[in-house]
Amino acid sequence: MSNTQDLLNRAKEVLTPNYARQGVVMTRGEGAYVWDTDGKKYLDLFAGFGGGVLGHAHPALVQALTDQAKRLWHVGNSFYNEGQIELAERLNKFAFKGMAFFCHGGADANETAVKLARLRGAQHSPKRWKIVTLHKSFHGRTLAMIAATGNPKVREGFDPTVPGFTNVEPGNFDALVAAIDDETAGVMFEPLQGEGGVNPYPPEYPARVRRLCDERGLTLIFDEVWTGCGRTGRWFGHQHYSGPDAKPVLPDIMTLGKAIGGGVPVGVMFARPEVGSLLTAGKHGSTIGGNAIGMAVARTVFDVIERERLVEHAATLGEHAMARLRNEKSIAPKVQEFRGRGLFMGVELHAAPDKFMEKALARGVIINLTQTKVIRIAPPINISRAELDAGIDAVIDVIRQC
Ligand code: PLP
Repeated sequence: MSNTQDLLNRAKEVLTPNYARQGVVMTRGEGAYVWDTDGKKYLDLFAGFGGGVLGHAHPALVQALTDQAKRLWHVGNSFYNEGQIELAERLNKFAFKGMAFFCHGGADANETAVKLARLRGAQHSPKRWKIVTLHKSFHGRTLAMIAATGNPKVREGFDPTVPGFTNVEPGNFDALVAAIDDETAGVMFEPLQGEGGVNPYPPEYPARVRRLCDERGLTLIFDEVWTGCGRTGRWFGHQHYSGPDAKPVLPDIMTLGKAIGGGVPVGVMFARPEVGSLLTAGKHGSTIGGNAIGMAVARTVFDVIERERLVEHAATLGEHAMARLRNEKSIAPKVQEFRGRGLFMGVELHAAPDKFMEKALARGVIINLTQTKVIRIAPPINISRAELDAGIDAVIDVIRQC
């Protein structure tokens, strides 16, 4: 029996079957490439659902991780560590003035954001505690976040979930207004929907929601777990939006996960100071969140993105790749719509493809399919133009076979 088959047999016995996994075991990665146990090489055009924003084994991240590993891993949040301060300062530099709480990942960050919105809402009479989110959104797998997520499938079998979440049609401002009542504490949405199929909004929508939140005293939460850290060609997805006054649309709270840890589990709830300061001692916490190891890597992720001008790179390369896809006549009959920003691209097909992942892996590329017929392309943002061009050739081939 091959090593791979042996591992797959063992996995079946000891791992819960909650992921629709391919029968491939990955063992090594370098740059934009990964190799499996049979030595087959793949070009990674999905970066581990966005977590591997700088690809595999980036030398600066390896250095940061190993240097930190020799000094201090974890002391717990009864003390300060330098990494948390430095990472929060970087968020202040690249996002907006705010305060950070560090945790393990996206769902965890969103839970914190909703708790904080409720804490803020509790200052009103009647108490405000409900949150409005959007259909086709995705906010994580905890009990509260499956209620927040605008996809009933993720809730199947888990009722009753956490009360207080309403999902409305994305981009429909009137539907949002209609969903708000005296007990609404906040509104949460992704600047560009990720799992929902790389869906944008009408350009004026975020600014209108911002104004509404200001008028009604609601907390606006942007879930930037997919869109943060350069992925869309801006540091953060919300930086694509501005109001009629040309001022950027800022949230009260932004959440981050995936990319910020470069593959190490790090999540962030980042709130403007008046909001973040409500999270007083004892109100919330995490044992491992914000530990020195995670912070050293996350801080370096920001440094590499800044030093290598990867935000601009993602914007330029994304435009180039999207133009190639749009201009490729051989796939046009199969494609319903091309969507995306920067290096977060979606290609919606007319029909659900058969054995899509298998075909992509056979062609040596890792891509993803969501909502049954939306192909997602989200490579490491430091991928080279030549690598991405080879990847787009492969994507075109796979679409032709679908
Ligand atoms: N928010 C968004 C927008 C996501 O796409 C995801 C995961 O895909 C999450 C939250 C949950 O993040 P995690 O899996 O790190 O809990």
